[in-house]
Amino acid sequence: MKSKIWLSSPHMGGSEEQFVKEAFDTNWIAPLGPNVNGFEHDLELFLDHDCHVAALSSGTAALHLGLVLLGVKAGDEVLCQSMTFSATANPITYIGAKPVFVDSEKDTWNISPALLEAAIIDRVAKGKKPKAIIPVHLYGMPAKMEEITSVARKYNIPVLEDAAEALGSSIHGRRCGTFGDIGVLSFNGNKIITTSGGGALVSHNSSVAKDARFLATQARDEAPHYQHSQIGYNYRMSNLCAGVGRGQMQVLAKRITERRSIFEQYHTHLHGKKGIQFVEEPEGYFSNRWLTTILIDPADAGITREELRLAFEEENIETRPLWKPMHMQPVFEGCPFYGDGTAEKLFEDGLCLPSGSNLSIDDMQRVLEVFDKKLS
Ligand SMILES: *Cc1c(COP(=O)(O)O)cnc(C)c1O
Repeated sequence: MKSKIWLSSPHMGGSEEQFVKEAFDTNWIAPLGPNVNGFEHDLELFLDHDCHVAALSSGTAALHLGLVLLGVKAGDEVLCQSMTFSATANPITYIGAKPVFVDSEKDTWNISPALLEAAIIDRVAKGKKPKAIIPVHLYGMPAKMEEITSVARKYNIPVLEDAAEALGSSIHGRRCGTFGDIGVLSFNGNKIITTSGGGALVSHNSSVAKDARFLATQARDEAPHYQHSQIGYNYRMSNLCAGVGRGQMQVLAKRITERRSIFEQYHTHLHGKKGIQFVEEPEGYFSNRWLTTILIDPADAGITREELRLAFEEENIETRPLWKPMHMQPVFEGCPFYGDGTAEKLFEDGLCLPSGSNLSIDDMQRVLEVFDKKLS
């Protein structure tokens, strides 16, 4: 059996162990410490000198706290991009709020600003104004944030920006994660950089980041005893994980270049092949190309997405259909959905390709050979 080629696997830079060793040497083995502060600082410098970051245990935790901090309560409705990973939508239900899903547009595959506005108008007409909007930057491609935030402002609804897949992506130089009232990052093992597991909440308001840290550490009031006037969470990032994060920040720029180069290799190789389409960057958009994704039109390509996926599987190469839209998921059955069929079509024809920054030249060759065999 040939060795397994993964979609996206962790890629250490080299200095991670030193930061983790320091944590051991100084006995900072806790969900606080110099690496947590240092990692937050590194992220603030990278994103935008004006933003404030709270390092948390996961991107999911950051989404949950984000909703809490935006004042979303049980029974409220939250507008959410349908085409995404379930972790975007699950936290809405943790609060007892209700997701209302919105379809994608074709340029970036992210939430359609037009359908978003249509959804808001209809929900308001039905007597319930949504309490937050969650756009996602799928696979690193920025959502149409200028249009989305302008709709959000028009109806005075806050934006919780799920940038879990888009660290290093930007629109006209402004980094993803800094567009929303609150932004969310993930450092899970499969993301562009990892802390093994981890996430962060981003805000331009220092008191929001401070409140996030407070809620993430059990919401302890200032008192010699344990005193609580709010429900707290245990969501802070471990100082060991943050050590890995500090090492990873040293190579983030390199990882973005490497992922983009993988995209370019696929793009160049598949150029001219019938029935294969990539997502291109709109003017001013910069994607970290976390995962390279393609659409396969079976009529032109002579092969379906699923046949191609199985051909890769036979070669021990991991590929995966795009995220199955949330409005099609059994667990979200009955949730309202505003759409025009775009996400369903993307799900039918879309495939994620091996995109790890540690993909070797030989690995890439093996992947491209499958395309050569299967496509005309
Ligand atoms: C990975 C991911 C998350 C969740 O992040 P975790 O750190 O794994 O909890 C949320 N949203 C999207 C779009 C993701 O890809």
